[in-house]
Amino acid sequence: MKPRLIVHGGAWDIPDKFVDDHIKGVHRAVEEIYPLLEDGMSALDAVEKAVNILELDPTFDAGRGAFLNARGDIELDALIMDGKELDFGAVCAVANLMHPVSLARKVMGAKDFRILAGAGAMEFAKTCGFEELDPRELMTERELDFYEKIKNDEQFTPIDAFSGQGPSDTVGAVAMDKDGNLACATSTGGTPRKHPGRIGDSPIIGSGGYADNCLGAASATGYGESLLRVMLCRTACDFLRHEAPMQAADNSICVLKNRGQGYGGIILIDHFGDYGIAHNTPRMAFAYADDNGNINAHIRLEEDVNTRPCKDYKDFCAKIHLLLKDPSFPIENIKTVDFLEAMNAWLISTKGGSSFDFDTDSPESITWEDLTQLIHAASMYE
Ligand code: ASP
Repeated sequence: MKPRLIVHGGAWDIPDKFVDDHIKGVHRAVEEIYPLLEDGMSALDAVEKAVNILELDPTFDAGRGAFLNARGDIELDALIMDGKELDFGAVCAVANLMHPVSLARKVMGAKDFRILAGAGAMEFAKTCGFEELDPRELMTERELDFYEKIKNDEQFTPIDAFSGQGPSDTVGAVAMDKDGNLACATSTGGTPRKHPGRIGDSPIIGSGGYADNCLGAASATGYGESLLRVMLCRTACDFLRHEAPMQAADNSICVLKNRGQGYGGIILIDHFGDYGIAHNTPRMAFAYADDNGNINAHIRLEEDVNTRPCKDYKDFCAKIHLLLKDPSFPIENIKTVDFLEAMNAWLISTKGGSSFDFDTDSPESITWEDLTQLIHAASMYE
């Protein structure tokens, strides 16, 4: 089986001056690890090692280069998950490690726990032989300056980091090995000026990452308080039951936006080995190895990819749902072009003259495939 590897380096409004560093960073992770996967490395090792490379890179908000919290301290979170065994390990709020994802891997192998936080996590790290770093070794000039800038800024809120005004460079990796096993890993310094002790989505199974050989595997980035509400990665994997990976990724971001009122991005691989990528932040950095083993590294703009009617998605789903509950609606075998007409005719005859208002940016871009997905999504609101 052809192995797969995709990594991300955060979803936010990456300024032009940082674009090169982001592209180089995500490219390097795939360039170094993909050949090892081709040589038989396990998916679990691959995601850990790829994330290690990104943790070392000061470009990203993980390991070295992490944001500082409201007290000016570093607190790192990480998760790793094995899709074969449906097992995982996570660490939260650790300050003295370059590679929290490797500690998460050790946690996964422990007998009596799967999530460790703070001092207890560091105690375990010492028993595993991890080098205890002075947190200052993780602090970069860029982040120290940024902290000084925002520490007393009453206008700044963490969600600003995702909607366009500030940085957010959590890293993640998803891999499928030659045996078809899936794994994911995510590592972060969290959100800028976060409350000490605040835990985001990244170390939480189902939110910051999820892997199940039967469905697929995903790693997410974005405003953690929203990603947690919709369990973004598990939601995306659930969409994979009925949808292609790009659509599943896209739909999960629609749920994030409309149900979680948040911003973020996701990368995933389904159990056939196909990639999915989506985000509703202005930009997202990612890289993957294609069918020929070539590495594609990109910064993608939201407007390049986001043509789906996210804005009124919730409302749209509610209306579709309403239709589905009425057996007189001719849902079977209806052609895309006829859909609006049929829906309006149905509404006029059954609802006394009101008509369906798609109210999307570009209704002509809606395809029958989109509608089937939306109908499926609508069933999630039941
Ligand atoms: N999701 C991370 C958190 O909320 C931040 C990020 O992805 O940049 O902690």
